[in-house]
Amino acid sequence: MLNVPSPAFPAPGSQQRAASGGRSKVPLKQGRSLMDWIRLTKSGKDLTGLKGRLIEVTEEELIKHNKKDDCWVCIRGLVYNVSPYMEYHPGGEDELMRAAGSDGTDLFDQVHRWVNYESMLKECLVGRMAVKPVVLAKENHEKKPLNGILLKSKVPDLPVKEISPSYDWFQTESLVTIVIYTKQKDMDSESVIVDYQDGCFRAEIVVNDYSYLLHTELSHEIQEDITARVTEKTGKVEIILKKKNNVSWKYLGHPLESHNSFTAHREKGAEIVKPYTPVLESLHSDLREPLHPHNKYIYVIIKIYHTGLFTPHFDCLQIGDYVSLSNPEGNFKKSQLQDLEELFLLAAGTGFTPMVKILNYALANITNLRKVKLMFFNKTEEDILWRNQLEQLADKERRFEVEFILSEPTCEWIGKQGRISLPLLSKFVKRSLENSRVLICICGPAPFTEQGIRLLKDLNFSQEEVHSFTA
Ligand code: NAD
Repeated sequence: MLNVPSPAFPAPGSQQRAASGGRSKVPLKQGRSLMDWIRLTKSGKDLTGLKGRLIEVTEEELIKHNKKDDCWVCIRGLVYNVSPYMEYHPGGEDELMRAAGSDGTDLFDQVHRWVNYESMLKECLVGRMAVKPVVLAKENHEKKPLNGILLKSKVPDLPVKEISPSYDWFQTESLVTIVIYTKQKDMDSESVIVDYQDGCFRAEIVVNDYSYLLHTELSHEIQEDITARVTEKTGKVEIILKKKNNVSWKYLGHPLESHNSFTAHREKGAEIVKPYTPVLESLHSDLREPLHPHNKYIYVIIKIYHTGLFTPHFDCLQIGDYVSLSNPEGNFKKSQLQDLEELFLLAAGTGFTPMVKILNYALANITNLRKVKLMFFNKTEEDILWRNQLEQLADKERRFEVEFILSEPTCEWIGKQGRISLPLLSKFVKRSLENSRVLICICGPAPFTEQGIRLLKDLNFSQEEVHSFTA
């Protein structure tokens, strides 16, 4: 074994040393060095006693954990169980006990502000301090609020606890589902913004003028296609993450800044990105490529969700205002339409938009094409985009057929009703000849698309015969 002399830490003259202000160090027992601590944290041992679950800690709860063998400390709003670390603490157990069951942020900053405690104590993380309404702090001037647990900005007049969303998570072998209870009726999917980059997961849910944030470094890698579902009536939001490796997660992740917080949203300068599929000016446009070489227009259909976060701003744009456009994204290739004999388009709501160019292109360019059928699912008659144009096209073009299905029809509606289902699809999506070359395109709200893909599989269509558009 090599005998390597341990380097002095902090290095002589380093900032850490200069800032230490002569704090006393106590001799540590054998096997209690920093390396031993790192080894212990990587051993997979449950250091919090919570089996990986993160909890919200109230002030009353924090105070209870004030003994050496049960010692919780709050630093900048995050609560750690430091009992396992006691014997490894270079400043000694007594020093650490000064913060037992309380907010140790000030003490920590006085003694060793430079220490990367988030990383050092990450396996000891118990959770976050429960958000406290500012009104309480204002009423009680004597009482100093705990560091990091007050909301950063204006809070609602109601006690935050009553309206603040909460979350939970569970897992199967391949999926992790985060459930957020917004306590808000009539939520829509526009109020959910999800982002995943470099292992960091961020979900923002907009509830009236407030924003609930989940921000965490996930404990394991996930795939990029994240699905969010909103149950409008109850305000329950489910975010479904697909695991990269089918291993069991002990905990969701390590909280990052503002994780599990509920603050006034619409900070100035916030950038929101949303994909839209360009359409044509109308279904009767002549689509023989190339388009006019110096074409300067892009047409998009934008549905305004009045309680949404993003589209109401679009609604207020004036001529002369700017929006930034990214490069095009997507994975549909025109070659998928080559040699096609039958094309089926299953669209729900604004999921109709990718169908516009496909429909036009196929009718104008694919010589073998015998049939194009569009099944268009909407809530109400008013929601049917381009209904007149679609009906006119069906009258004019014998290869094209359209069917409207409403999920929330009035009693006057004599057409089909319901949501995507096996009986509907088995009648509609049928090869006219046994070996017809078919393509089925599907686009709409994520649950619609997912269900459609499953049903088409049950109807024995192959993966190559189905193309789904996901936002
Ligand atoms: P919507 O809420 O008005 O619903 C339209 C229809 O979708 C309903 O009538 C119903 O038949 C079906 N539907 C809705 N929820 C369902 C569920 N849980 N299970 C089964 N069927 C369901 O739709 P909208 O507000 O117009 O939303 C359209 C969606 O399409 C948006 O999520 C949008 O992001 C997506 N979209 C995607 C793309 C793309 O990927 N390129 C393009 C446009 C739109």
